[in-house]
Amino acid sequence: MNSITQNIVQLRERIARAAATSGRTAGDITLVAVSKTKPASLIREAYNAGQRIFGENYAQELSEKARELADLDIAWHFVGHLQRNKAKVVAPLAACVETIDSLETAAALDGKATHVIDVLIEVNIAGETSKSGVGIDELATLGRGITQFKNLALKGIMIMPPFDPNPEASRPYFRTAREIMARLNERNDVGCVLSELSMGMSHDFEVAIEEGATIIRVGTAIFGER
Ligand SMILES: *Cc1c(COP(=O)(O)O)cnc(C)c1O
Repeated sequence: MNSITQNIVQLRERIARAAATSGRTAGDITLVAVSKTKPASLIREAYNAGQRIFGENYAQELSEKARELADLDIAWHFVGHLQRNKAKVVAPLAACVETIDSLETAAALDGKATHVIDVLIEVNIAGETSKSGVGIDELATLGRGITQFKNLALKGIMIMPPFDPNPEASRPYFRTAREIMARLNERNDVGCVLSELSMGMSHDFEVAIEEGATIIRVGTAIFGER
């Protein structure tokens, strides 16, 4: 086994263990392999190990890799900040855009869509000025706005807590994200059911799964340091 295959096998075991802790199974967790800065050849290795969903942060890089890997049945998630003028690059390629944080970006993506694109709203869960994402208080309004676009399917929310090497430091943010989404659903604040919670990266995905993540975004633990 090459190392990427080994990493994926180990990761799947850890996902299954963390899921069992929260009364779920590995099948309830979608693994997005974040391949930013890594060459197409390594994505191909991960694909050959059974991985089908990959995450990219930059429109141009996504475009180049999608072209190089056009023979593979990959579902791309866009996980970087989406600039409005890059919507035309990302829209035809992405199965899911996880980082919608304005109605303008959503409108641009909808306008350039060639298929129905799953979208998540990025929430700036800790109110950090350095990060993109909407504030918790703007979430319901943006969610309702997105539901008017016929080429976008709003599925849930995505968060990235302040980086702390201690995974337990992320736990309160993960918990808050789950509670926010539950409250939106209880009150039917958005007008559709939100079911996806994208949270957890290489260093804290187990805690994220324990707190209800349905999508985890893992780069380093698969492809090594960037
Ligand atoms: C890079 C990145 C990840 C993966 O981070 P790792 O620590 O390498 O697992 C996840 N989400 C987003 C938005 C990223 O930019």
